Amino acid sequence: MGLIEDTTIYVRVTNRCNSKCGFCYRDSLLGKDLTIEKIKRIIDKVVEFGFKRIGFLGGEIFLRKDLREIMDYAHKRKLLIIVASNGSLVKDKEIKLLNKYVAWFGIPLDGSTKDKSLLMRNSFDQFNITLKLLKKFKRKKPKFKVRIFPAGAFHARSAVRKTLISFFILESPKAIFNALR
Ligand code: SF4
Repeated sequence: MGLIEDTTIYVRVTNRCNSKCGFCYRDSLLGKDLTIEKIKRIIDKVVEFGFKRIGFLGGEIFLRKDLREIMDYAHKRKLLIIVASNGSLVKDKEIKLLNKYVAWFGIPLDGSTKDKSLLMRNSFDQFNITLKLLKKFKRKKPKFKVRIFPAGAFHARSAVRKTLISFFILESPKAIFNALR
């Protein structure tokens, strides 16, 4: 594999979200969501330049009603698909969709307890959303792989970043382990 094959091109399919996390930069992004036609043209370009992987992120990607069409198009163009979501809208129907099209599913976790997570997420209970979904994945044994990432730590302003990252590195694996055993 070379650099082109190993590179993932990420497309922000929506700026909309059902949460208002304190650290999120999406309000600073201008413009409406890309149209489906534009996204398909981007996918065509990704293929044309020889890339093999595409990532879809938001906002919250499951707010897009045409997400299936987007994934189907990328799948038909033989791209490996990666998505990132806060997981709050992922029910059985969405798991079926992910199973059909997606290789990797990314979901955030920002600490070992709900309270620590809420420091970054305002009132959005990302901690329980993520752990409940991980438990569900454990039961349903989906085909896609799951990536858990500390979004708050990545995006937070530098003054607090170190502390936030230490929440994740030191403590979140334990929360994940406890949820999954
Ligand atoms: S869930 Fe993600 S996209 Fe939505 S507000 Fe929070 S950080 Fe931003």
